[in-house]
Amino acid sequence: MNQMAVEEAEKRCVVLVPSPFQGHITPMLQLASMLHAKGFSIVINHSELNPPDSSKHPEFTFLPLKDGLSNGDPSLLNLLNIIPAMNKNCRVPFQDYLVQMMEKPELYGQICCIIYDHLMYFITEVADHLELPTILLRSSSCAYMEAICAFLQFQAEKFTPLPEAKLLDPVPKIPALRFKDLPFALTSEIPEPLLQLLEKVTKIGSSVAIIGNTTENLENRALLWLRQHYQVPIFTIGPLHKMASSLQTSLAEEDASCISWLDTQATNSVLYVSLGSIVVMDKKELIETAWGLFNSNQPFLWVVRQSSIDGSTSIEHDLPDGYLEAVGDRGRIVKWAPQKEVLAHRAVGGFWSHCGWNSTLESIVEGVPMICRPCFGDQNVNARYITHVWKVGLQIGSDDLTRCVIESTIRKLMVEEEGKELRQRVVDMKQELQMSFQDGGSSHNSLKSLTEFISSF
Ligand code: UDP
Repeated sequence: MNQMAVEEAEKRCVVLVPSPFQGHITPMLQLASMLHAKGFSIVINHSELNPPDSSKHPEFTFLPLKDGLSNGDPSLLNLLNIIPAMNKNCRVPFQDYLVQMMEKPELYGQICCIIYDHLMYFITEVADHLELPTILLRSSSCAYMEAICAFLQFQAEKFTPLPEAKLLDPVPKIPALRFKDLPFALTSEIPEPLLQLLEKVTKIGSSVAIIGNTTENLENRALLWLRQHYQVPIFTIGPLHKMASSLQTSLAEEDASCISWLDTQATNSVLYVSLGSIVVMDKKELIETAWGLFNSNQPFLWVVRQSSIDGSTSIEHDLPDGYLEAVGDRGRIVKWAPQKEVLAHRAVGGFWSHCGWNSTLESIVEGVPMICRPCFGDQNVNARYITHVWKVGLQIGSDDLTRCVIESTIRKLMVEEEGKELRQRVVDMKQELQMSFQDGGSSHNSLKSLTEFISSF
C-alpha cells in the first residue's frame, strides 16, 4: 500500500443509510456532513428510488442499493408496499457492499458504525451478521415514537375499537395527547400489514444508540420516556439543519424567484403555505384553500407540487378561471420553494403547514407561528404539540376546510391579537432553540459526545 492508501485505511468510516423520502434524506445528509466535518469518511448507501443528488456532495461516497423500485411510486398510498419491499430487496446488496468495504479499507476507511433511518429496519440484521455496531437516526419527533408505542400497546391489550365518545379523553401517561391525536385511529380495525410495519419501525434491535433531530428542551418529557424504554444512549443534536447549515438536500429543483418577490413584501405579512413532499390534497381542498387565501387579503406564497393534487394534470387547469389574474402580485404559486430560506425571510409571518417534523423545526427555529393542517402519521402528534404544548400555532381540522374557516383562521394568525400572542411565544422558543446549537448548548455538547462515542468503536 502506498502512503495515501495507508492513511485512507486508517481513517474511520461511517456508513449512513437513509430511506427514500425527502423528510428522511435531508436529516441523514445533514448528519453525514457534521460527521464528515469531525474527520470521518462518509459512505451513503441509498435506494435507487428517490436517490439523493451525489453531485451536490462530492465529499461523500454514494453507493446505490438495487431496490427493484427505481420506477416506483413514492406516494403515501404506496408506502405500505414500498417500505417492506425496500427492506427485503436491499438486504443482499447492502451486505455485499459492506463485505467489499471491509475487505478494502484503503478505499473507504475502517467502518466504525452504521447509522440508519428507522424505516430501513433490515439494517440491524445485516450488521449483526458482520458484527458491526448500528445507531438509529430518528428523523421524526420523539413524541411520535412514544405515541406509536402507546398505540401498539392499546392494540395488544385489545383496547380497540375505541368508542367515538372516548376520542377526546387524554391518553394514559401521555397527557399532551388525546386518543384522537394518536397516529392511527383506534376506532376501526387496523390492517395487519400496517401493524407489522409499526412493530418493526419501533424496534431498535441490537442498535447501541439513538440519534434524535430534536433538543432536550423541546421534547424533554418524550425523551425521558425514550431513555427509559430503549435503555441506550440518546443523542439529541437538533435542529440538524442549523447544526449543518448551507447544505443542499432538495430532491426537487427549488424555485428561488420567490425570494426576490418576498423582498418586496412588508415584514411578517406573508403566509407561506406548504404541505411537504408527500401529502396529496383533493381538488375540493385546492379550490377552498385558493379562495380562503384570496379572501384573507394577506400576501401568500403557496407551494403546489406537481403530484400534490389528486388526479390533476396542472394547477393552472384546476384553479378557478381568472383566479391567478385576480390574485395578481399579492400571491405566488411555486412547485418547490427553498423552504428554509423562505421561513428565515423577514416578510414571512405565518406558515400553513402539514406539520412534518422538518417543517415544524424549520418554522419554530425561525420564530414563525403556524396554522396546522395535519394529514397522517406523525403530523397529528406534532400538530398537537404545536397547538397545545408549545402553543405556537392554530389547528384547522379536515372537516373545517371551507373557504370561510380558512380565511378567518389566516386572519386570526396574521392580524388578530391571538396571532400576536402565538408569534411572541414562538419568538421566545426560537431564542431557546438557538442556544442549543451554539457553543456549549445541549445539541452542540451532544454532537461532541456522539463523536466520541462513535470514535470509541
Ligand atoms: N421543502 C422544501 N421546499 C418545499 C417544500 C418542502 O425544501 O417547497 C422541504 C422542507 O424544508 C423540509 C422537507 O421538505 O425539510 C419536508 O419534510 P417534512 O418532514 O416537513 O415533511 P414530509 O415531506 O416528510 O412530509
